[in-house]
Amino acid sequence: MDPAADAPPRLLLVEDDPELAEMLTSLLGEEGYALDAAADGQRGLHLGLTRGYDVIVLDRGLPALDGLDLLTRLRARGVTTPALVLSALGNPADRVAGLDAGAEDYLPKPFDIDELLARLRALRRRHLDTARSVPLPDGRLDLDSRMATGPAREPVRLSERECALLALLATRPRQVFSRDDLLRLVFDGAGSPVVVDTYVHYLRRKLGKRIVDTVRGLGYQLGRSR
Ligand code: CA
Repeated sequence: MDPAADAPPRLLLVEDDPELAEMLTSLLGEEGYALDAAADGQRGLHLGLTRGYDVIVLDRGLPALDGLDLLTRLRARGVTTPALVLSALGNPADRVAGLDAGAEDYLPKPFDIDELLARLRALRRRHLDTARSVPLPDGRLDLDSRMATGPAREPVRLSERECALLALLATRPRQVFSRDDLLRLVFDGAGSPVVVDTYVHYLRRKLGKRIVDTVRGLGYQLGRSR
């Protein structure tokens, strides 16, 4: 079970051309994406570092911080969200520069909107196919075997729901989830939010207290400090 499958895919759009940004916001919204838009590179970097996204669409030429610099900084901080770079510069050298900066795909402007949508779908599909394991703060969680491994411990097998809960937190490590969100996304909304607390307790018992952080008054987040 993919705990994120029920939620709309979250997309970060960083584009400084207001007309293009508005058109993309509306089209991608109609396609079912939950979208945040940033009009400059600094804002895009801030959003990319502080919120979890499933895919990023990024203009190359941006005020404040160039699109490729933004992407390089995100990658350097461990953000692996697949990114598609839009650029008016469409020659092979620019494409290579984009891929070198950590982009998964590169689309020259002007582009056909159907092609953009198809590429985004392909990007997310590829990402999901290869994302059969997710990084933990000190190891990995294998989603097929449900084994949590790490240098500091023996491999630990999780139950289906423990695995789904931890996978969701680990896939969006910077996001704080409310108990209601977790109940809806991991437990199909059944029961009371106390069931979330119970499963957080199970995870801490198996993997150590710091595997999940309590964010007082807000909910839970993947543990950060080791
Ligand atoms: Ca631009």
